[in-house]
Amino acid sequence: MEDGVGVERPLKLHMLPFLSPGHMIPLGDIAALLASHGQQVTIITTPSNAHFFTKSLSSVDPFFLRLHTVDFPSQQVDLSDGVESLSSNNDPATMAKICKGAMLLHEPIKEFVEKDQPDYIIADCVYPWINDLVNKPNISTIAFTGYSLFTVSLIESLRIDRSYSNKNSSSLVVPNFPHSITFSSTPPKQFVDYEERMLDTIRKTKGLIINNFAELDGEDCIKHYEKTMGNKAWHLGPACLIRKTFEEKSVRGNESVVSAHECLSWLNSKEENSVLYICFGSIAYFSDKQLYEIASGIENSGHAFVWVVPEKKGKEDESEEDKEKWLPKGFEERNIENKKGFIIRGWAPQVMILSHTVVGAFMTHCGWNSTVEAVSAGIPMITWPVRGEQFYNEKLITVVQGIGVEVGATEWALHGFQEKEKVVSRHSIEKAVRRLMDDGDEAKEIRRRAQEFGRKATRAVQEGGSSHNNLLALIDDLKRLRDRKPLE
Ligand code: UDP
Repeated sequence: MEDGVGVERPLKLHMLPFLSPGHMIPLGDIAALLASHGQQVTIITTPSNAHFFTKSLSSVDPFFLRLHTVDFPSQQVDLSDGVESLSSNNDPATMAKICKGAMLLHEPIKEFVEKDQPDYIIADCVYPWINDLVNKPNISTIAFTGYSLFTVSLIESLRIDRSYSNKNSSSLVVPNFPHSITFSSTPPKQFVDYEERMLDTIRKTKGLIINNFAELDGEDCIKHYEKTMGNKAWHLGPACLIRKTFEEKSVRGNESVVSAHECLSWLNSKEENSVLYICFGSIAYFSDKQLYEIASGIENSGHAFVWVVPEKKGKEDESEEDKEKWLPKGFEERNIENKKGFIIRGWAPQVMILSHTVVGAFMTHCGWNSTVEAVSAGIPMITWPVRGEQFYNEKLITVVQGIGVEVGATEWALHGFQEKEKVVSRHSIEKAVRRLMDDGDEAKEIRRRAQEFGRKATRAVQEGGSSHNNLLALIDDLKRLRDRKPLE
């Protein structure tokens, strides 16, 4: 293609992910996607987070995809060297310091952008200063969010009509929204304020990149977003589908604590749809009491399981007394030794596990990546939101699309480490597991719908599919804007 000056220049894009696995993983995949379509992409991160991207980079020509690191301000926020990303291993004080340090990246990133000017900055909207990174009219910002558009639109509906917060009611009906959504409790004010700041940031950008496919968010939500927010959303996902082989899927995010071989040989010994996979993302805290109920609930359900627990749980040096606080006596002898269950202590190769045909359901905290990864694999979900927007994602899964069942978690935590007052009982857990895994009529219908969405997701990223078309449209729109040509 010619632009009158010569061969059309690729876009020069600087991409800026937030320092949390749930944000770095999808943006790394989207960076690889843009680079594999011939655009010149630089991911900006800190040294200890570089490994999150090197696995995205390895399959793409380094001419199109490179990494630039800026130092994390460890001393300024009083953290040891190398502690630069949010994870389940951190305590709340460390998490707060990492967030503070991430916000201080504004200056070094601004300096880099001044020296090495891109056409566009694609930045995580968690950073409130992304629109201040450039003061040149010829550089624009595109926002990235780790949420679905359904959730962004729902937050906007709650922002426009705040009357719910004055009503003396514990439940919440979302006003002026394309779907009828009711929550049995209201979100904490701190969370609402945080989300609204993010929307303010998004509104000032040229548009929003979403790690989802249009069919899952639905046309109604897309229209609602564009009408209420006044900018465009590009659905480019599911990002995880850029990884095709078991090998590519197994090396996503942190280093897995189990080998792909060990995991696959366990999964290969099971029958189709017979295994429940349980994982609550990269930053979730459950009390010993709650873990004990999970262990009892899954054991009582009688189904095979893969359960991802925090790294510190069940290490060799854990005393019997400590172990029995979260694992019923004899649990491992009864379930692990006879291969009924598989416990992964630390980081699991989630996308690889979900794409195995023996997995029949996913008990999830409804983090957006986990949700869209399950949908991509056609796996129905048992929803167990813990904090923030996870409660909104739950409604998309269960009420709107009918591809999951709720375990009955209603208490919003303010952060991933807050101990909840209410414990979800073993009885509720067993009931939810049986609803999906016992294969009754309801389960069959939910599985059918989930598998249909799985097929739609696969089609979306193929040539001619909705996300593939959006990717081409995004590249075209951004080139036209850059080159001052009219949009088609
Ligand atoms: N993840 C993983 N292994 C784990 C835990 C998490 O691969 O043991 C990945 C998961 O596949 C997803 C991301 O980490 O891509 C978690 O993102 P999500 O939005 O689901 O939740 P968050 O961690 O942000 O709460």
